[in-house]
Amino acid sequence: MSEIVLNSELLNKVFDGKEITHDDACQIYQELEGNPFEIYKAAQILRNKNKGRIVTYSRKVFFNLINLCRDTCSYCTYKSEPGEYKMSMMSKQDISSLALLGSNHRCTEALFVTGERPEQKYNEARTWLKENGFTSTAEYLIHASEIALNAGLFPHTNAGNLTKYEMHQLKNTNPSLGIMLENSSNRLVEKDMPHEFAPSKNPRARIHVLENAGELSIPMTTGLLIGIGETPFEIIDSIFAIKSIHQRYGHIQEIILQNFQPKPNTAMQNVPGPEERYFKTMVALTRLIMPQMNIQIPPNLSPDSYSGFLQTGINDWGGISPITPDYVNPEFSWPSIDTVQKKCEDAGFEIRARFPVYPEFFSMVNPDLRSRMLEIADSGHLVSKEYLK
Ligand code: SF4
Repeated sequence: MSEIVLNSELLNKVFDGKEITHDDACQIYQELEGNPFEIYKAAQILRNKNKGRIVTYSRKVFFNLINLCRDTCSYCTYKSEPGEYKMSMMSKQDISSLALLGSNHRCTEALFVTGERPEQKYNEARTWLKENGFTSTAEYLIHASEIALNAGLFPHTNAGNLTKYEMHQLKNTNPSLGIMLENSSNRLVEKDMPHEFAPSKNPRARIHVLENAGELSIPMTTGLLIGIGETPFEIIDSIFAIKSIHQRYGHIQEIILQNFQPKPNTAMQNVPGPEERYFKTMVALTRLIMPQMNIQIPPNLSPDSYSGFLQTGINDWGGISPITPDYVNPEFSWPSIDTVQKKCEDAGFEIRARFPVYPEFFSMVNPDLRSRMLEIADSGHLVSKEYLK
């Protein structure tokens, strides 16, 4: 009896519009982890209150720009070695052709992804960039973003730890940028942990990037990778770390919660992914901690049950591409947009296409980009239904 009353009081605190503290969140988790449906229910109520019955996605093209990487994360199959069959170095012509194809398919987002500063490790990357007229991957990203923008797409770059100057340059063409925090715990960079050989995943480095973006007023997508050896309390710490940055700068537009999936031929190939109940509990807790945040899970990583996450407080499916694979998780193809739409409608939600930047962050985008988006936006700053016909 006392436990139920205690938890109800904490959940009621959220309904009353009060913020829950770190200790509250830990207590809710400890008390309800065995029977988390009360947390899911609370998260649903908060999502409905703050986000209504609309679930968004971004119709995107995935540009796998350069997938060599300076770092090594124990779970990654995205990065390639020189000469490997999956190595990608997209030429300017490749970018231009794919951007036009995406535009013809009514995509609005150009997602640019690269490994972490490949030119610092690989002569192949340095030489190739030089032959194309660039001294760094970031310099090439700036040019690639211009190509995509001129083809009618809106770039969103996720290229690891960019410097403040690089982000400042990208702000001219990218309405928003992204960098996964993954987790704020230093433990995950220690020996035998997944980020031991990935200095760019040091939480201090990632938080510094998010802070720099805040100083530049760039809408940022960030998120956590769940199930890589962290404790539930380290996830709660991480959500509060993101919340603290957002409270200072007001620029975190979205938190992605990504469930780890083991991949063959990686150091973590035998580590099971997180249990669905645990993952859902973390998604719901995120909604409790940040009731107004945009919270996304990628539907392709929970292919059998993603619509169930609508009951845990999410309001976004992230980028879904009708024409390119998810190069980070090629084993998991995206569901068709029609399928996602049907699942949403069956659950009583309307699905709407958004730009890479969320509607409430339009005011942070530079006027030129903003006016380009407004040409095909509705009055709520979502992609107009007419444009997608
Ligand atoms: S996850 Fe990113 S930083 Fe880590 S190895 Fe893969 S490409 Fe590099």
